[in-house]
Amino acid sequence: MAGKRVKRYKAKPCRNCQKVFEPITSWQVDCCDDCHNDFWKDKNPMARIAKIEARLAALEKSEAVNHNEKRNMV
Ligand SMILES: [Zn+2]
Repeated sequence: MAGKRVKRYKAKPCRNCQKVFEPITSWQVDCCDDCHNDFWKDKNPMARIAKIEARLAALEKSEAVNHNEKRNMV
């Protein structure tokens, strides 16, 4: 019985966080699922736009709050 032996490939840096990891498959380029998702989130223009829109909405909301506060002070 040889037992379970996981083949390890040469350690390489994760393409997302640059952390050196040992890939389980020869084509693995991210150290974890989070990095894989992060990488593609940045590459996906729709996700980029959604991120910017979310930031804009938050900005507008805080600006509206500031505006209301100023108006209440006068
Ligand atoms: Zn990583």
